Amino acid sequence: MTASRREILIAGLGAMAVAAIARPTVARAAAPFVQPPLPFAEKDLEPTISARTVGLHYGKHHKGYFDKLNDLVKGSEYETMSLEEVVRASAKREKDRKIFNNAAQAWNHNVYWDVLKPGGPQKPEGVLAEAIEESFGGFDGLKAQILATSDGVFGTGWVWLTKDSNGKLVLRGYQDADNPMAGGKPAILGIDVWEHAYYLDYENRRAQHVAALVDKAINWAVVAERIKA
Ligand code: MN
Repeated sequence: MTASRREILIAGLGAMAVAAIARPTVARAAAPFVQPPLPFAEKDLEPTISARTVGLHYGKHHKGYFDKLNDLVKGSEYETMSLEEVVRASAKREKDRKIFNNAAQAWNHNVYWDVLKPGGPQKPEGVLAEAIEESFGGFDGLKAQILATSDGVFGTGWVWLTKDSNGKLVLRGYQDADNPMAGGKPAILGIDVWEHAYYLDYENRRAQHVAALVDKAINWAVVAERIKA
């Protein structure tokens, strides 16, 4: 798909979102945006991620993005949008960079906690395992590419598992708050590589943290569900 064609499609999605908002009978998610509960106890990711890191990350950082977003959207057109719509609409507007950063970070962490929910298989299974085999040559190949992508994110950002235009799984590094969903692509698995995600437990050893997370903390059943969605 050419860039211009993609832009037209994205613009079309924006118009559809506006049309949906105009229907007053449809109940919609809108501001104030509410941080979902952490779907596990703060200590549940130990020793991969400490309770202290999860507590600060969820209770201060993630909560802070919601608080700032709710302040920023007051009285704006964004107040009536869902969180996803705020991310997509603000992504293209440089003047709304602060709204984008806070909305995207609020959304990114919703995904992050969901895919770290304990209790799932520790390795991809079934159709997901087959897709990973096809795209990365297996789990070890996926892990190696996650580490390489993480290493390639300078400063703060995310590693996202997404799909290319042929539907094949791919990994991409994103700066700061950015994610594939903002550009209309599936955001299947997000790994936070901001220092606040690991510094208390691993100091500057980002790769060690990411390797432990991939080996021990990802719920591959949730990832498989997100691929279907
Ligand atoms: Mn974070």
